[in-house]
Amino acid sequence: MDFTRILHPAPMPAAERDAALANPGFGTLFSDHMVTIDYDEAKGGWHNAVVGPRGPLSLDPSAAVLHYAQEIFEGLKAYKQVDGSTALFRPDANARRFNASADRLAMPHLPEETFLESIRQLVAADRDWFPSVEGGSLYLRPFMIATEAFLGVRPARQYKFIVIASPAGSYFKGGPKPVSIWISDYTRAAPGGTGAAKCGGNYAASLVPTGEAFARGHDQVLFLDAVERKWVEELGGMNLFFVFDDGRVITPPLTGTILPGITRDSLIQLLREEGLTVEEGMYSIDQWREDAASGKLLETLACGTAAVVTPVGKVAGPDGEFEIGSGGPGQITMKIREKLVGIQKGEVADTHGWVMKLG
Ligand SMILES: *Cc1c(COP(=O)(O)O)cnc(C)c1O
Repeated sequence: MDFTRILHPAPMPAAERDAALANPGFGTLFSDHMVTIDYDEAKGGWHNAVVGPRGPLSLDPSAAVLHYAQEIFEGLKAYKQVDGSTALFRPDANARRFNASADRLAMPHLPEETFLESIRQLVAADRDWFPSVEGGSLYLRPFMIATEAFLGVRPARQYKFIVIASPAGSYFKGGPKPVSIWISDYTRAAPGGTGAAKCGGNYAASLVPTGEAFARGHDQVLFLDAVERKWVEELGGMNLFFVFDDGRVITPPLTGTILPGITRDSLIQLLREEGLTVEEGMYSIDQWREDAASGKLLETLACGTAAVVTPVGKVAGPDGEFEIGSGGPGQITMKIREKLVGIQKGEVADTHGWVMKLG
C-alpha cells in the first residue's frame, strides 16, 4: 500500500514540544501526525492510506461504531535504543492479534504488512516526539472503527483504520511500586463472549468496577471468571503471574475469556529461560489467599505493555484482604522486569527476534 504523506502545516513549536516531552505523563499528550486508511467493501477494500496532520474526525452521527461499538484497538511502544536508533517490540504479534480481534467483531482483516508499515510511517513522521525522560517511549495506538452510516444491526461495510502516537513517561517514577487490587463482583467476560478480543466494549463494561476499585483506594480491579466466580482471570488491562517457593509459576490459561497479552507470552518464555516451571493453569481466589498466608506464594505480578511488569502487593475483596510476600516488590518480579525492559531498550541481547529496528 502506498501512503500519501502530508506534513503538518503548523506542528507544535519545538520549544513547547521539548518542554512537554520532559514530563509527558501517560495518554494526554499527542504527536503532530496520524495515519488513516479507509475500507469500503464496494471499493475493493482498503484504500486511501494517508500519514497526515493529527486532527478531529468527521463521522456521520449514525456511524455504526457510535451505536454498536464495532471497534478494536492495539497498544504498543516504540523505544529509543541505547545506540540512538528506534525499535518496536514484537509489533508482528500486535498485527496478528489485531486481526484476531477483527474476526470476533466481524471486521475486515488489515494485512499485517500494512499494519506494520502504518506504524513505521507514523514513527518516521513523528521522530521528534520521543520523550527525553528516562524510561520514556512513544506509545502507539492503532485502532479500527465502523464508519458506515447505518442503524440496522449487521456488520458494517465501511471502516477506518487509524494510528495515533502519544509520548509516554516511565509508568513508575523511582521504580515500580506494588499495586493494591480490588476483587470485583462484576465480571469482565463470559465464555463465548469477547474477552479475548481487544475491543473498546470490554473496557466500557469494566469502568464501573474500575471506579469502585479507585473509590476504595485500590489501584486496579481484578476479575474472576463469570461462571463459577472463583477462578482468577486478569486485571482490567493486565495479565497475572503467581510465583511459588518451589520454582513454579502459574498464569491463567487462554480459555477465551482473558486477553492474550504479548507481555504475558514474552514473560512465559523469559521465566522458563530463568529455569522456572511455568504452567498455564487455573488458580482460584481461595487458593491464592491460602498460599499467600502459608508463604507458599512468594510473589504476584501483573503485566501489560503500558506498565510492563508490576508487583501486586495487596488483594482486597468483600471477604477482607491479604498481602503478598512482604508487600514489597519480589525478586523474580524485579529480575524479569529488568530483563524485559533491557531487551526492549536494546541493552540486553534479543535472542528471540522480538525487537524490530526502525533505523
Ligand atoms: C492489552 C491488554 C492486556 C495486555 O496485553 P499486552 O499485549 O501485554 O499489552 C491485558 N489485558 C487486557 C484486558 C488488555 O486489553
